[in-house]
Amino acid sequence: MDSKSLYTRAQRVMPGGVNSPLRACQYVKSEPVFIENAKGAYLYDVDGRKYIDYVFSWGPQILGHQDAAVSEAAHRAIDLGSSYGAPCVGEIALAEEISKMIPSMEMMRMVSSGTEATMSALRLARGYTGRKKFVKFIGNYHGHADAFLAAAGSAAATVPGTPGVPEEVTQHTLLAQYNDLEAVKALFDQNEKDIACVIVEPVAGNMGLVLPADGFLQGLRDLCTKHGALLIFDEVITGFRLAPGGAQERFGIQPDLTTLGKIIGGGFPVGCYGGKREIMEHMAPVGNVFQAGTLSGNPVAMATGLATLNRLKDCDYATLETHTRKLTDELVAIMTEKGQPVTLNQIGSIFTLYFSDRPVTNMIESSQCDAESYTAYWQQMLAQGIYLAPAGFECVFTSFAHTEEDFEKTVEAARRVEF
Ligand code: PLP
Repeated sequence: MDSKSLYTRAQRVMPGGVNSPLRACQYVKSEPVFIENAKGAYLYDVDGRKYIDYVFSWGPQILGHQDAAVSEAAHRAIDLGSSYGAPCVGEIALAEEISKMIPSMEMMRMVSSGTEATMSALRLARGYTGRKKFVKFIGNYHGHADAFLAAAGSAAATVPGTPGVPEEVTQHTLLAQYNDLEAVKALFDQNEKDIACVIVEPVAGNMGLVLPADGFLQGLRDLCTKHGALLIFDEVITGFRLAPGGAQERFGIQPDLTTLGKIIGGGFPVGCYGGKREIMEHMAPVGNVFQAGTLSGNPVAMATGLATLNRLKDCDYATLETHTRKLTDELVAIMTEKGQPVTLNQIGSIFTLYFSDRPVTNMIESSQCDAESYTAYWQQMLAQGIYLAPAGFECVFTSFAHTEEDFEKTVEAARRVEF
């Protein structure tokens, strides 16, 4: 069956024909292609077309699809049983490895998605401090738990209002613009002893890529320390992508709690939250903050996660960054030649090419970008076999599987785009 017929069929049984809203490609006025398989840096759809992938399952597949070591680990683990609901050695091995690579995570708890990780970290911060309120940034996305669906980024930004989330649930969610330290100071002044935590994407990846301004993360660290609140880094995107130790290694700032997802599952559903022992020991069964999960610590996901982290030890992040920088330099030059104003935000193997002539440092600026130009760009790139995120406020991910030839083909495709 071709993508078009599959999409018709899918819409009969799933809202919008998808299991996650952005996949429907409405933002870029298109219909989704259905993927049949993926290998290395490439996706193959049911219509026989091949694409150079820049989405990589929204970040997890930093090694490319079907990395040999990761696939082998998955097969080996499945042969031992796919779920036990009881302790297994893989959970310890993955936790030990994460703790080595991200030393601020002395202890952790595995869950099955990034949403579960952030939701549980918030509960822990509230349980630990005995406070109800927390600060989140406009345009940051921390998954779809109710408390975070206030001014959230990513696909949530395209849904007007948040029906289904009572105001009473978000009344304790205090909002500030990303990169606005003064706004956070003011919130602490107004809510002196009531703020349990500040949760932040240390590099924002859900309003397009937005870098933290100089001193922003350190400022948050200092404010949290001063007011007895916890600092939570949501590293679901940045963990093991910006550096083996994530954004906290790259920026040299230690949060109290960290949330992870995506890469640590090697393509299987995993999330994780962790931090200082003294805080983590408030979780049941040691402490009285409750959280549980039927598939938590799933042996297959633990094995693929560990295989991924082991592979990443041999990967050269600096070279990937240099290659990605070369790609983005060329993309910017091409758009400039075409008279199409663009602004590039980039760090490591993540970037967003905004269709705007102004800097993008927060959600307001991101939402002012030219969605029509992005749509034209996306559609023409897809038609030439380049698979980009179907929304201008998302990131482009490069991977260790991309070759220089892939990047050259991408540049050539961009050269042929007409606005
Ligand atoms: N936190 C961040 C920073 C994310 O980007 C995402 C998802 O994209 C999440 C949390 C939620 O993760 P999941 O989709 O696995 O629930």
